[in-house]
Amino acid sequence: MKNESEKYMNKALALAAKAEALDEVPVGAVIVKDGQIIGRGWNRRQQKQNALEHAEIMAIAQACRKLKSWRLESCTLYVTLEPCPMCAGAIIQSRIANVIFGAYDPKGGACGSVINLFEIPQWNHHPNWEGGILEAQCSKQLKDYFRKKRAEKKAQKIARKAAQNQIQSTDNSTPPVVPGRSASEAEQVSSMQESEVGDDSLSDNDHNFDLERVPRTSKGD
Ligand SMILES: [Zn+2]
Repeated sequence: MKNESEKYMNKALALAAKAEALDEVPVGAVIVKDGQIIGRGWNRRQQKQNALEHAEIMAIAQACRKLKSWRLESCTLYVTLEPCPMCAGAIIQSRIANVIFGAYDPKGGACGSVINLFEIPQWNHHPNWEGGILEAQCSKQLKDYFRKKRAEKKAQKIARKAAQNQIQSTDNSTPPVVPGRSASEAEQVSSMQESEVGDDSLSDNDHNFDLERVPRTSKGD
């Protein structure tokens, strides 16, 4: 069972790598029924500029098309990152039986990290779930991606500043003033924009995938 989980998690990791190659946050998912992959998904949020394009949603849509049914009752979904509330909702709606995920998401996970949508007693479907399968690999893939993106942003910022300095050193005229704003107001706005760039969703603080966590599961073992 563990070998099987790792086998399919490796497939999900390969799809996450595909997302990363397209400059997307690397998250991948597969849906398996009777030993066959019937749905594949990877994060396409940037490419599609659509907040709904998470890996799990793409995999669910494909599996529903394949089975010609919205019910995925005897299926298992493998995903490299703990599902968010939207995907946990879609998993419940599609009646997926089992969910296996890799890295935990302490700031966004809806399978126990922030909230557990799979164990709300009043709801009529409760998928079995297990977290922490190939967690080290899944977590590393995400951390490496965010580290790379931060380094890229930093290099862009340095290049931008160097270009600005060059313009200033060759330009002896008075600095441009934004109409209706004093020079100091313009500076404030510009420094706010810079801090927003440096403090966006690419921070590891927002994605603090925890390697030390003891694997959790719906079966309590
Ligand atoms: Zn999601």
